[in-house]
Amino acid sequence: MTSLKQLFDASRSRLTPVYGGSEASWLLRIIMEHIKGWNQVELLMRADKEVSDFTVTRVNEVIDRLLAYEPIQYIFGDTYWHGMTLKVSPAVLIPRPETEELVDIITKDNPQPDLKVLDVCTGSGCIAVALAKFMNFPEVTAIDISDRAIAVAKENAALQKVKVDFQTADALDLGAALTAKYDIIVSNPPYVMDKEKSAMDANVLDHEPAIALFVPDSDPLKFYKAIADYAADALTDGGRLYFELNPLTADSLKDWMQQSGWRDVSLLPDLHAKTRFMIARK
Ligand code: GLN
Repeated sequence: MTSLKQLFDASRSRLTPVYGGSEASWLLRIIMEHIKGWNQVELLMRADKEVSDFTVTRVNEVIDRLLAYEPIQYIFGDTYWHGMTLKVSPAVLIPRPETEELVDIITKDNPQPDLKVLDVCTGSGCIAVALAKFMNFPEVTAIDISDRAIAVAKENAALQKVKVDFQTADALDLGAALTAKYDIIVSNPPYVMDKEKSAMDANVLDHEPAIALFVPDSDPLKFYKAIADYAADALTDGGRLYFELNPLTADSLKDWMQQSGWRDVSLLPDLHAKTRFMIARK
């Protein structure tokens, strides 16, 4: 016989050496929510109640995968981001908290209705879906080079009941795929340099899609330059470009943007005070 408390104590001792105590507790709450549908209050109320062998086995299977550094979001196929439960798969990056801030910057900056928005490198579709949901009747298009990512993004738009025009296209060759004009172009493209790999967690490095993360050390701005060059033609007059970016390359990107004729180029910090976003005006 195993009580829920015993299962928790045993599970916490397995997880803590790798994840630390507070993250272990957070992981256990997510595991129980997905396997049993129990929230935190129900967990407390059931502490002394028996759990089935089946539950014990399932919990331990999930913990085995977590100990191999598989992200919990891929194990259960979803994540909670900006007030929404979004689907994720190993074909897409798990949406990050910083990207919630990018969405907030854009929605605050652009209260007017009926704007046309393009999200480049949409991945899970998080930015496109959030903007479709939180802006004032925007018309949102989003592209990604990966068909598997686009399939996940479409599911997320459907689950959130918003309309987004998703297309498979290459961020390095947008002019070939798109002909419309946009008031806002936003992108969170791959921006981690190869040389940063050695400092990265196994959860990210071994499980998240490299195509969504990495750029060569020799050309770390390649997506930004291609997207900005396209945006110079595709933005309406006064239209704005929004980027999430790597603090390590922020200044060189700002210089390049100014030299290329962009106006009001500004860098903004994220909640951890790292330079993380750029806004520029055509
Ligand atoms: N912020 C992500 C990370 O730290 C990277 C996102 C990106 O490359 N666009 O892993």
